[in-house]
Amino acid sequence: MARPNENRVRSCLRGNLLTMLTVLGVVGGCVLGFILRFSREGKWKEREAMYIAFPGDIFLRMLKSLIIPLLVSSIVSAIGALDLSLSKKIAFRAISYYVTTTLCAVTLGIILVVTIRPGSGRGSSFQGPTEKPNVRNVTTTDTLLDLVRNLFPPNLIEATLKQYKTTLIVPENSTGVPLTDFKIKPDNSDSTNVLGLVVFSIVFGITLGKMGDAGKPLLDFFNALSEAMMVVTKWVIWVSPIGVFFLVTAKILEIESLEEIVGKLSLYFITVLLGLFIHGFGSLSVIYFVCTRQLPFRFIGKMSQVLVTAFGTASSSATMPITIECMDNCGIDPRISRFVIPIGATINMDGTALYEAVAALFIAQIREIPLSFGSIVAVSVTATAASIGAAGIPQAGLVTMVMVLDTVGLPAEDVTLIIAVDWLLDRFRTTINVMCDALGAQIVDIMSKGDIKASNDLELERAIADPTELVEIVKADDTRL
Ligand code: ASP
Repeated sequence: MARPNENRVRSCLRGNLLTMLTVLGVVGGCVLGFILRFSREGKWKEREAMYIAFPGDIFLRMLKSLIIPLLVSSIVSAIGALDLSLSKKIAFRAISYYVTTTLCAVTLGIILVVTIRPGSGRGSSFQGPTEKPNVRNVTTTDTLLDLVRNLFPPNLIEATLKQYKTTLIVPENSTGVPLTDFKIKPDNSDSTNVLGLVVFSIVFGITLGKMGDAGKPLLDFFNALSEAMMVVTKWVIWVSPIGVFFLVTAKILEIESLEEIVGKLSLYFITVLLGLFIHGFGSLSVIYFVCTRQLPFRFIGKMSQVLVTAFGTASSSATMPITIECMDNCGIDPRISRFVIPIGATINMDGTALYEAVAALFIAQIREIPLSFGSIVAVSVTATAASIGAAGIPQAGLVTMVMVLDTVGLPAEDVTLIIAVDWLLDRFRTTINVMCDALGAQIVDIMSKGDIKASNDLELERAIADPTELVEIVKADDTRL
């Protein structure tokens, strides 16, 4: 007969099997990646790396296919199920949390980069841009206006495929023409306008909630869709160990220069990493403790599957289905997790905000541009906006960085100075982005317990008066469990 200790170890292994396999996937991917990289003199061809990434690519495609139906149905069903005053309270708590944590992240980033000064005295070792990045020469105002335009998509079908971006047409004889005098061309870029879909889903959820019985069939449809997407998510999660293994292996083969990480960019790399670590385990823990009177470490431990997937995919959006699933397993009210997680995955990116601030000031230090206190404040504001505007996809932060660079008067091309290490920093900042969303869901859940209970009691009272509703409440509670 097995002893109780053995049983405990066995049940612990069984409970954490998937997480352990996923961690093994990351570690194994790194090991295989380095073995393959050093097993050959020359570089691995892009085509070869693509073949190795193939299973990982399939995993990413599976996750991505879940994003739009899950995002829309989760938000509509969560908001539609709450009465308006409760939605307002939850939204207020979530938004206060997003704002506080993002500001803490940006401030921490600025303090670290100003103290460590990773870019000072390095002017000669950086030759300037060598590679032309895929960035647009637009002003901060253009980018901010695009952000607002994207909140209101004119066509919902188009919003699932494209988002609005302003591009500038350079006049034929462009020498000496100021940037603001270039012709503006409205353009659509091929990436989902998640922000627009989130805003529409919020408004739609509120409307269905207000319509009462008339809106119920549609609300039931979104509830069922959200549940169905969660079932598919549970299946897809089992592919994650293999997926992250191949994604990480291929990424290591694709790295342009490993030397840059340990060479010129090492201090910058360490500054961002230190900031992410202090924010993730310091600032966020303090905020968590202040709001809940508990320490977050046990909860973070339960999230390891989510964190490893975020690291492996470098995408908050792709990780979102797994985050919601994990929140369900942790016992968070689905109406809260389905509200806080999709919105957080779209607009709350602390890791990205911290990195944007550090990177912009690092580049300013390299270019020896003296910055006044006012410019540093402007950097913190634009870094916050840039993190809100960044999509939850790999290296989106590098694109919105243009806006922060513009604030300190630097050209967009200067992002090439940090491109060499961005693929790796992206993985760490995505992990912190996702962790922050999950902690937010737990905080809002704990803080809203009383309100949720009061709302449930009210629903029950109403149901006792009308027994047909009681059946609905029991059914809803069943699916929540
Ligand atoms: N990859 C990040 C995310 O998905 C965004 C970024 O910072 O580039 O959260």
